[in-house]
Amino acid sequence: MATDVPFPLAGKRVWVAGHRGMVGAALVRRLAAEDCEVLTVDRATLDLRRRAETEAWVADARPDAVILAAARVGGIAANDAYPGEFLHDNLAIQTNVIEAARLSGVAKLLFLGSSCIYPKLAPQPMAEEALLTGPLEPTNEWYAIAKIAGLKLAQAYRRQYGCDFISAMPTNLYGPGDNFDLEASHVLPALIRKAYEAKVERRPELVVWGTGAPKREFLHVDDCADALVHLLKTYSADLHINVGSGQEVSIAELAELVTRVTGYEGKIVYDAAKPDGTPRKLLDTSRLRALGWAPRIDLATGITETCGWFAEFRGIRER
Ligand code: GDP
Repeated sequence: MATDVPFPLAGKRVWVAGHRGMVGAALVRRLAAEDCEVLTVDRATLDLRRRAETEAWVADARPDAVILAAARVGGIAANDAYPGEFLHDNLAIQTNVIEAARLSGVAKLLFLGSSCIYPKLAPQPMAEEALLTGPLEPTNEWYAIAKIAGLKLAQAYRRQYGCDFISAMPTNLYGPGDNFDLEASHVLPALIRKAYEAKVERRPELVVWGTGAPKREFLHVDDCADALVHLLKTYSADLHINVGSGQEVSIAELAELVTRVTGYEGKIVYDAAKPDGTPRKLLDTSRLRALGWAPRIDLATGITETCGWFAEFRGIRER
């Protein structure tokens, strides 16, 4: 079994797969503070769903470490609308990158999953052991099944080949570079956009999906990137590690927070015809904390900063 910790990054070539995404971009920012060389490749140059091309690129780029942040992602509506793409694309991307890493002798790989891998009714907060103890939340089971397969692949490669491949499961993330498209986005960027638009257009109401009762935990993407780099350097074992903030709010509380920060003064109304999804999704992060990491950005500060980012860039990202 590979247990190469600590794994110092100095002088290493670190490939951030998915560097245009919110998490990948945050990782590139965070890794700038390390004495390592960051490798990236654009989607137009390499489609990670293509196995032969992925293997050839990795063999040529020779990374020492890989952070697998490339994925087909989206909120509750996108998951429901594109189950085939969510399952297929994620299975293909992660299988290709993990296998290419093995073939090229990559010394360390960190696979990124999601808190939706846990059962819909898992006891809260959800510890790593809750995996595969009950049925998944149906609105995102396609994505969840792919992510479970990814963490199992990393585990299987540790066992069979002795590869030092590990997995991290982040909670709901937010921050600069998020997707603000209302059909595809997660709740926080959606509410930020809705609040700004409702304010500018002087709309009397802001519509929030579902009942407002579900609770979610939110972690700023810069905190997430910091935790991931910490795990890359210090963790080496079979078990996936939860990455969360412990900051849990109801969707109704979140809507109030966003309207306060954006200065929207209209009424918040709930569209109960839209799904609530899983009732609660709070991670138990005792293991991560025991490994010496804690978040720094509190939710109110992070939302204020993200609202500022959205106001400045109108949610338009460089593609
Ligand atoms: P989830 O954490 O996988 O359920 O994904 P989301 O972040 O998309 O949704 C979280 C919760 O926020 C669900 O209960 C949604 O119904 C609720 N929600 C309220 N308003 C919105 C909205 O405008 N967009 C999204 N995506 N979710 C919303």
